[in-house]
Formats: sequence, C-alpha cells, structure tokens
Amino acid sequence: MPELPEVQTTVNGLNKKVKGAKIIDVWSIYNSPYYKSKENIKDPKFFKEFKERIIGSKIINAERRAKNILIYLDNKETILIHMKMTGHLMFGEYTNTNKTNDPWKPTDPNNEALNDPFNTHIRLVFSLEMPGTKKGVEKVNLVLSDTRKFAKVTVIKTDGIFHSPDLSHLGPEPLAKEFNFKIFKDQINKKPNGKIKTTLLDQTIIAGIGNIYSDEALWLSNIHPESLVKNILDTELKKLFNSVLIVLKNGIDFGGDSMSDYRNIDGERGSFQERHNAYRKTGHICSKPACKKENKLNLKIGIIKRIVVGGRSTHYCENHQTKY
Ligand SMILES: [Zn+2]
Repeated sequence: MPELPEVQTTVNGLNKKVKGAKIIDVWSIYNSPYYKSKENIKDPKFFKEFKERIIGSKIINAERRAKNILIYLDNKETILIHMKMTGHLMFGEYTNTNKTNDPWKPTDPNNEALNDPFNTHIRLVFSLEMPGTKKGVEKVNLVLSDTRKFAKVTVIKTDGIFHSPDLSHLGPEPLAKEFNFKIFKDQINKKPNGKIKTTLLDQTIIAGIGNIYSDEALWLSNIHPESLVKNILDTELKKLFNSVLIVLKNGIDFGGDSMSDYRNIDGERGSFQERHNAYRKTGHICSKPACKKENKLNLKIGIIKRIVVGGRSTHYCENHQTKY
C-alpha cells in the first residue's frame, strides 16, 4: 500500500503537472463492492453527484494528509483520493477504445511507463484542459489505475475539510516542521500497552506510516517490533523518532517504493524497494555490520525473520533488534 513517501511523490507530481487544469469530463467504472460509505464514486448515485460538483472547475493545487491525496478546486470543493492497496494516479494522453474491459489506453503505444502492465487497470479518468498552450488548450488526462479496486475517491467541501470524517481522526504529520520528539513521544505513549509496530501503524497516533516504513524504522533503531511501548527507554525512543524521519525522507528521495504496484505520476517505478534492510528480506543476512559475520563482539549472524504482529506481516533482525 502506498505510504507517506509514495503519496507525497504523487502529490509532488500533481503540483508539477495539473495546476490550473480545468476538469472538462470524468469517466469511471469501478463495479466494485469494496465501498463502505455512500460518499464514494463506487456508488453510482454518488458518482453522478461527484461529476456535478467537479466538472467545470479548475485545479488549484494538491496536498497530502496522511495517505490521502487532496486536490483543491477553485469552486471550494476538494477531491480526496486514498490509493489503498494498488491505486496510483498518472498523467498523460489517453484514448477511450470503447472496449468492455479496461477501455482506456495511453494514446502513445510506445510510452513504456504508461503501458507497464501495473498501469493498465484504469478505473477513473479526468479529462483536463491545460492552459497556456499555443493552440489555446491541450487535452490531457489524469487517470487512476487500481488493479484490486480498493481505492477511495470522493469530494468534500474545502471549508472544514480537516474536520471531515475522512481526516479528523488522523494524528500529526511526522514530516511537518512543528513535529518534534516530544510530540512523537506523547503520541506513542497514548498506547502504553501496545506493541510498537502496531502503534506506529495507527493513523490516529502518527499519520502516514505503513508496513514498509515501520519495519525499516524499527530495524534502523534496533528495536524489536513486538516491544511494548511502555518498556522502551527514552534514549531508544529518540532513536526511533530519528529513524522514522530518516526512512520517510529516504522514501521520498528515492521516488517511493515500487516493490508492489506503486508508480509515480509518469507511470515510473520508485527505487526505495532496492534499499530495504528488513521489509520482505526474510532469510537474508542482516546488513548491519555487526550482524554480517561472526566476530568478537557478536557471535551470531543476524538473519531477517518474518512474524505477524497485529495481523500484519513484520520483518526484523533477530540479532540486533532488542525486545523491550
Ligand atoms: Zn541485524
């Protein structure tokens, strides 16, 4: 699932490509039972309303809140997209082939990135007019590919958007300027009896962290994922705070993680998956120098193990990550 760095990468791409674009049409065919609330375009009635509320408006800019993409429009409406498991937005020229399955194809068959098989399950298409071209306007598309159909798309009034049910429960943003160790510690300690991995994944505690970046941050800070929050010393918690910031920033710097379906707005892969030390490294020798080979300080070689914590697949080094 896209986490903070992947969603931020998409939002940065949106801000480069679609600012000022006018939405002239919207197409969608989700045919999916995976929606719980009615305010989701998977509900045909709501999709009709969705179109009415956004067609004709212009995109001001995009912003990320936790794992949500917020696209602000000039008519005081905001499109909210949560990409969930396999969703990702892409920008380019698309053609409706009117085929029954996956009718929208990239207009250029030689665009390798947009024709990547992970990018071909287009469920939602915004037709846009871009300002400032010589001909007056250029028609392009913003599309959502979503193989598993879990994504959520809705529209919310911009006024009071952060008090809406989709966003009001979310904890602080870890990469915000005002975020600091005290806030991190106070938030984590709201779940003193929780396991640290589960607590890091809790979006009401800290926003945006998922399975990949929690495993990597715990590996980097030498903390076992099943450690109880109340048992972790302040010095260790400080290391975890720093590690969370490091792995999230690295995720953004390397263009996100494309071990699974995630692709950026050009349909291209990120490369953070090449830098994993723990996540899905089961059976590999740990890359910490102290864990790599037998030596005087350390008689054991560290091997990455996989366990399930709070129902989530979890990867850690049995050698250097201490259980508190
Ligand atoms: Zn290790």
